[in-house]
Amino acid sequence: MNNTDLQNRKVKVIARGQGNVYPVYVERAKNAEIWDVEGNRYIDFGTGIAVCNTGHSHPKVIDAVKNQIDKFSHTCVMVNPYESAVELAEKLIEIAPGGSDKKAIFVTTGAEAVENCVKIARAHTGRRGVIAFNGGFHGRTNLTMALTGKITPYKHLFGPFPGDIFHAPFPIESHGISVNDSLKAIANLFKVDISPTDVAAIIVEPVQGEGGFYSAPTEFLVALRKLCDEHGIVLIADEIQTGFGRTGKMFNMEYSNVEPDLITMAKGIAGGFPISAVVGKSEIMDAPLPGGLGGTYGGSPVACTAALAVLEVIEEENLVQRSNEIGAIFNEKLTLLKNQHPELISDVRNKGAMIAIELMTDGDIEQPNSALTQAIIANAAKYGLVLLACGFYGNVIRFLPALTASNEIVEEGLEQFTKLFKSL
Ligand code: PLP
Repeated sequence: MNNTDLQNRKVKVIARGQGNVYPVYVERAKNAEIWDVEGNRYIDFGTGIAVCNTGHSHPKVIDAVKNQIDKFSHTCVMVNPYESAVELAEKLIEIAPGGSDKKAIFVTTGAEAVENCVKIARAHTGRRGVIAFNGGFHGRTNLTMALTGKITPYKHLFGPFPGDIFHAPFPIESHGISVNDSLKAIANLFKVDISPTDVAAIIVEPVQGEGGFYSAPTEFLVALRKLCDEHGIVLIADEIQTGFGRTGKMFNMEYSNVEPDLITMAKGIAGGFPISAVVGKSEIMDAPLPGGLGGTYGGSPVACTAALAVLEVIEEENLVQRSNEIGAIFNEKLTLLKNQHPELISDVRNKGAMIAIELMTDGDIEQPNSALTQAIIANAAKYGLVLLACGFYGNVIRFLPALTASNEIVEEGLEQFTKLFKSL
């Protein structure tokens, strides 16, 4: 079996809409490394899009899951519930920002968690409108596509979209969009498009993920909180990519001390077992009627057990702290590269182990270098790396290493990245 044969088979049977970044077929993966079907080894700086924060196949997670499967694999939390779902909700409520008077629900994907936030906010407020941000990404379902602030490829060819969704600019100082610009745009929406008394929710990623790893400034999050309080709007923090230690805090909102009303969780929650959650203030969470939320697989016993094990590993192995240490190594090495190539790298930024470099052309930040970004991604496998791109213009390389990666692996991966960068 080889990668080429598998890719030839794949393109015949899996539609191009679910295309793959690398024609590299995984045979096994352990902690921060992947081996393909030809025996080649890769250092994984993508972690399945920010999922395997505790590394691939962490023994504790695997043992917990095996143990659970021996007992039962599915009953549906809405039919015959089980202790792991209750315990997971208790734990998430404890670690999520905000007071203790919170409740949770479980669904399966990040997009579903976002959709359910909107449903809950609409049920609570009796209002229709939702404000989201340009460059934001919230998923691929119909409603979450509508919330997403980037057309290609996420929305292209897929309309019509549900109405009552409005977008404002996300503040990115380096691109000339100030916090004030964003707030003015929201004020303008309130004047022209929708009265604030018709707005159910504002949804924001505290660090835009697919959008390019731009952090929302604290003063922006504080201002959004104030705006929501003034007008009775539900503030939703989409922490699907930023949660579970990824940014050097358990949740990114902790940096600003701003408490959202609802928070979405997915990806890093269970090391790859499909589960997502919404955690929020009880009075808001309890607005929908029984049976209005959840789904057949939401909060599956296998995924709940995996999530409980992941939370234990994060605590026992001090992975929130480790995220900062790993981020610092990346920042130092990538800054060195930036100093050597100031005409190509416009920025190196990280929050913990959510790390990015932004590429430009001829020293001009207004000319995003998506061609170089694509070339780096296309050649990464040859250098034994798994890398991902992101950004509104596709000119950002993002690094999402396992928080369990050793310094040796991180340094080896960064050396390979430097060689790859210099080869182009
Ligand atoms: N929200 C954010 C911030 C994300 O990064 C993602 C996925 O990348 C989603 C929502 C959608 O999650 P999923 O792909 O699990 O539906």
